[in-house]
Amino acid sequence: MHDLAIKNGLCYIEGEFVHANIGIDGNRITYVGKEEIKGELSVNAKERLVLPGLFNAHTHLAMTLFRGFAEDMPLMDWLKTKIWRAERKLTAKDVYWGSMLGIVEMLKTGTTCFSDLYIHMDEVAKACIESGIRAVLCYGMADRGDPERAKEELEIGEEFIRKWNGGRIKAIFGPHAPYTCSLEFLKEVKEKADQLGVGIHIHVSETREEVKEFLQKYRSRPIEKLEEIGFLSPKTVIAHAIWVDEKEMEILAKRKVSVAHNPVSNLKLASGIARIVEMMKFGINICLGTDGAASNNTYNLFEEIKLTSLLQKVHTGRADALHARDVIEMATANGYKAYQIDGGKIEKGKLADLILLRKSFNYIPLYNPLYSIVYSSFGCEVSHTIVDGRLLVEDGQPLTLNEEKIIERAEKIKEKFLDL
Ligand SMILES: [Zn+2]
Repeated sequence: MHDLAIKNGLCYIEGEFVHANIGIDGNRITYVGKEEIKGELSVNAKERLVLPGLFNAHTHLAMTLFRGFAEDMPLMDWLKTKIWRAERKLTAKDVYWGSMLGIVEMLKTGTTCFSDLYIHMDEVAKACIESGIRAVLCYGMADRGDPERAKEELEIGEEFIRKWNGGRIKAIFGPHAPYTCSLEFLKEVKEKADQLGVGIHIHVSETREEVKEFLQKYRSRPIEKLEEIGFLSPKTVIAHAIWVDEKEMEILAKRKVSVAHNPVSNLKLASGIARIVEMMKFGINICLGTDGAASNNTYNLFEEIKLTSLLQKVHTGRADALHARDVIEMATANGYKAYQIDGGKIEKGKLADLILLRKSFNYIPLYNPLYSIVYSSFGCEVSHTIVDGRLLVEDGQPLTLNEEKIIERAEKIKEKFLDL
């Protein structure tokens, strides 16, 4: 008898869809196979597709509160006149409700783990604990060349890690970017991360201008410089990596750094198209993220899945540039791998983070589920979401969250930003 049994689903196992039963005990998958199994709780997955849960590898979760707040503006204008001013008004409680809103959306669209870099992170951690979702969290630090500030930022970052690291929460360091953090500060962050045995999540080479300015200042490209100061390791995840040359790709591959690709945000902010296929040729681990909801505007990872595939096709001029299977791996196993979490696969012994998809009209006729998922999904096909062995969404309904109340609070918080 298992704690939870998922029966008769068409399951994504080692790159193929096969009929199987899945047994879960505690927070791990303990059985995958054709034998009849029983569970204290059992989910009938007949006519459903079963996938490892999706991993959203780059978010600023509480920015849900700013989606639709300021649109169609040039990037710097948008940041300076709108987003940064609004963020100054953001309280810890607002971040809690904004995070809850993001978590409802993620759980309902099949995301079982996300990696967040933002402010008031205690509130994000609380929202994760209460909702049951898994997360990698870090306080977003920037010293802007001020040694006093560097000291304070590192203290906040470290305190957050000591307070929250463990269980479903993996707490790491989040220096914002090489253009908002000094090299001295980045070196200190790396030393501290090594001491504590934790990873680092950072933005690198998102815009052409940022790389140009970096080159002028340091006479070296950002990733070359990060390599020079010993910053890169298999525990580093860099978001974006759009303006990266081949020498830098070689460095990323050598240091086993993972790249979080955010295609919707990159298009919306006109940042560019990351060279994903080329990076894959170097053997770089690519995972997918949405970035913040102000530049996306959703946390529905199925949008990133489809767009990743389409963008690489048009970018390389080859319709076979990426296989649907590669993109599914980016959205699942590669995210778990990037942050060293033992999930992302339907396999005995792995963490039980799984989702069930119904075969809705947009999947019909169903020739190959891989293609339906990558090219036809809206996100609303997700019927069940299981995180850490616990059922969090059943038949599309969140079990641990009060969706109505969260919506009401978010609408109320909106009012304070209306005069900006
Ligand atoms: Zn970002």
